[in-house]
Amino acid sequence: MYASRNIDLCTKDCLCLFVCPTGATDTETGQIDKNLCLDGCRLCVDACPSHAIYLVMSNYADPKHKDETLAGALMGLLESKADQEAVARSAAAENPGAQKLARALQKSMRILAEDCAREGGFMLPQSAASQALLAELAQTEDQQIQELAVKLLEK
Ligand code: SF4
Ligand code: SF4
Repeated sequence: MYASRNIDLCTKDCLCLFVCPTGATDTETGQIDKNLCLDGCRLCVDACPSHAIYLVMSNYADPKHKDETLAGALMGLLESKADQEAVARSAAAENPGAQKLARALQKSMRILAEDCAREGGFMLPQSAASQALLAELAQTEDQQIQELAVKLLEK
């Protein structure tokens, strides 16, 4: 582990500088030298009155890959939530009296579907960022990329 500083919280009172045995913290630049940090001894963390310093892991485990059965089940659940969202959307349009409930259901189904997509390891093609990127790619001169982007936008 090693120490890291949230510069927005730092009041530059230099307590971390006084307690650090290796001089790893630099309050002038706001940096903590990872190479000097003694495996996150945490003296600076405990000394900081602003809670500006925290420890971070040196290595993180590789993200676990979902097996095919689980990914398939998540995608099945996603499709069913998407269908339910569509039902709730049309219910909201057709029943003005129950619009609030139907809209809440619609949103809730969307959130569940997005969770399934994320857990299944897929990006959300309907997100604003993805849509903006695809729209931009649909204008490029490369015919192949353009066609692919248009296809994805249609889907
Ligand atoms: S002890 Fe905390 S508040 Fe003080 S200089 Fe260090 S990081 Fe900033
Ligand atoms: S964790 Fe220890 S060695 Fe690392 S910067 Fe803080 S006081 Fe220094």
